Amino acid sequence: MKALKLYDPGDIRVDETDLPAIKEDEVLVKVMACGVCGSDIPRVLHYGAYRKGLTVGHEFSGVIAESRDTSGKWQAGQRVVAAPLIPCFQCEWCQKGHYSLCEDYNYLGSRCDGAMAEYVAVPTDNLLELPEDVPFEAGAMVDPAANAIHGAWKAKINQGDTVAIYGMGPIGLFAVQYAKICGAAKVVGIDIMDEKLELAQKAGADVVINGIKEDPVKAVRELFGAGVQVVLDTSGSKIAQNQAVLSAAKHGRIGFVGISHDKLELSKEAVNNILRRELMIHGSWNSFSQPFPGDEWRLSIKYMQEGKFWDQSFISHRLTLNEGPDIFNKLNDKSFYFSKIMFLPQEG
Ligand SMILES: [Zn+2]
Ligand SMILES: [Zn+2]
Repeated sequence: MKALKLYDPGDIRVDETDLPAIKEDEVLVKVMACGVCGSDIPRVLHYGAYRKGLTVGHEFSGVIAESRDTSGKWQAGQRVVAAPLIPCFQCEWCQKGHYSLCEDYNYLGSRCDGAMAEYVAVPTDNLLELPEDVPFEAGAMVDPAANAIHGAWKAKINQGDTVAIYGMGPIGLFAVQYAKICGAAKVVGIDIMDEKLELAQKAGADVVINGIKEDPVKAVRELFGAGVQVVLDTSGSKIAQNQAVLSAAKHGRIGFVGISHDKLELSKEAVNNILRRELMIHGSWNSFSQPFPGDEWRLSIKYMQEGKFWDQSFISHRLTLNEGPDIFNKLNDKSFYFSKIMFLPQEG
């Protein structure tokens, strides 16, 4: 089979390789769609793989090709989505059900072979059924959708809240849709690319702000007086993190969801806001809860089935595995526009 394998930072190749062998209580999934995660980009371009020649990719859906499930629940032919985290289920944090914080985990596509390939081996504990009426491409986006819900839970969106979301990548778009599901009164989507703001409008944002063309903090305060009740940052940008703190109203709740590769720099006014407005800033990591992989995952699939989550337009590129090395190189260019890049491994 074909697989996208990472050797060194920037050295990613399409290799011909053997089908993965499956152990007891694992299935072989024929991958129908696998998305590029924001975390794959620095991994492929700058940090490299956990071991040389690792198959990348962890946001995927497909069909079970072969099953060694001993429970009888999972059989060949079933449509599935799989969570990428393989927790130890033993450590203190797993025992408490906080699998994202596991101290001895494995991870498809970063620590063991992932799904930018025609086939991937997956433990049955990680499987969720993908209903017939949810497309494979949507199924491959349950991971970012579940990340959005997990982050929103940390910041706690209540009915009637005003919500501002920084970063209109896929997680931000799902966060817009989830804020609407929670009954937010108004949802503001903020990004620095107009193409992404168009998607935010499609996702249901009431107001969109281009953070380069106007000051988003000023715009939020003009719209809502002192600020909004809930702010999520899905961008991980230090500029947006500072703006997120400045956008929060008294007793506002801020969720930091986007992975940052930088130091946090808060202005004097932002620090003042944290104190005088008694703000809460909550970190969010990944998407898992009890029972594994978590309601974040089950709800995402349910909302997709109900048509409240996901839109075709969230996918900016549909590619074959052969086009993999080229697209990762293009991602080095910061001005290159993309939303979700989706590999369709059965197409070549
Ligand atoms: Zn991911
Ligand atoms: Zn654990």
